[in-house]
Amino acid sequence: MTILDHPADSAVFGVYDSIADAVGNTPLVRLNRVTEGVAAAVYAKLEFLNPGGSVKDRAALAMIRAAEESGDLAPGGTVVEGTSGNTGVGLTVIATARGYRSIVVVPDKTSTEKIALLRAHGATVHVTPGGRPSHHPEFVRNVATRLASEIPGGWLAGQYDNPANPGAHRTTTGPEIWRQTRGRVTHFVAGIGTGGTITGTGEFLSEVSGGAVTVVGADPVTSVYGGGDGRAWYIESVGHFLHPQTEVDEWPDSYHPGVVDRLERIPDVEAVTVLHRLAREEGLLVGGSAGTAVAAALRVARTLGPDDVVVVIVPDSGRAYLSKYFDDEWLGRLGFPLYHGAPGPTVAET
Ligand code: PMP
Repeated sequence: MTILDHPADSAVFGVYDSIADAVGNTPLVRLNRVTEGVAAAVYAKLEFLNPGGSVKDRAALAMIRAAEESGDLAPGGTVVEGTSGNTGVGLTVIATARGYRSIVVVPDKTSTEKIALLRAHGATVHVTPGGRPSHHPEFVRNVATRLASEIPGGWLAGQYDNPANPGAHRTTTGPEIWRQTRGRVTHFVAGIGTGGTITGTGEFLSEVSGGAVTVVGADPVTSVYGGGDGRAWYIESVGHFLHPQTEVDEWPDSYHPGVVDRLERIPDVEAVTVLHRLAREEGLLVGGSAGTAVAAALRVARTLGPDDVVVVIVPDSGRAYLSKYFDDEWLGRLGFPLYHGAPGPTVAET
């Protein structure tokens, strides 16, 4: 028996029949201190409050639902994806709740914590040698494709060219932001990984506002999305390093560059500085890509007036990056500003 009498009861009482139903409807929280001197209102959409801990739960749920509807994924089936990141967790959470197996293929440079997290969620993790070019049979996505075709009932999620990825944001993230701001949003800011978030949300907001919402992409400065040369950067999960003319034929299908009105190219050091301020001044311990996105949002907001409303996506939590962006040894080694600075007081001293 369900204790829900009516579908609307879920939203009213916060009671759900499955963890999948708890994906989305994340809060929009105003940034109050990092915005000092800024006339426009800046609101962060807290995607780390999704069940799997990131914005990718939305795409995971939508891709699995679409595959169920098309019959590509059926009872007893196995969800397969090549990813070291949040998509693997999101897919595993939804797969588990719906009775599917989950196989996640990761390169061998993936941190032990990430592999442990995927395994803890119930995924079978398949580790493959890193640094393989995209045509190589051991390239992560090629291994995932092969496993999905070999395993009976296997289905490849394929977030880079699955229309359900941007579709998830078109039907959930965009409408939520429009509702939450009561149509007052003027600027939407997001990082670009697969491009699903900015494409789906940006297209929805542009359409519903009749082109009044400005869509801003936040990109690491050397990423090729914003015209960089593809040199390595340290902020994980955003940006693109393959040159479209040489290494791949085109951008991922999940990214529609036409949706972006403006691109802010954010150096890692600016992202890390903003990230530290969010933790220290706003009570928001968030991941590196949120630092990139909020840095871009602040740049844009400084040029705006009191009637403007900027909404920025915070994709995941800082908990997954304690040994990087919040670790002075890592920060100091790479020339970033330290987080703790001088060693903090130890328990014995306090
Ligand atoms: N930030 C984080 C932490 C992510 O995991 C992702 C997904 N790769 C993104 C940003 C980018 O989102 P999208 O793939 O929708 O462009």
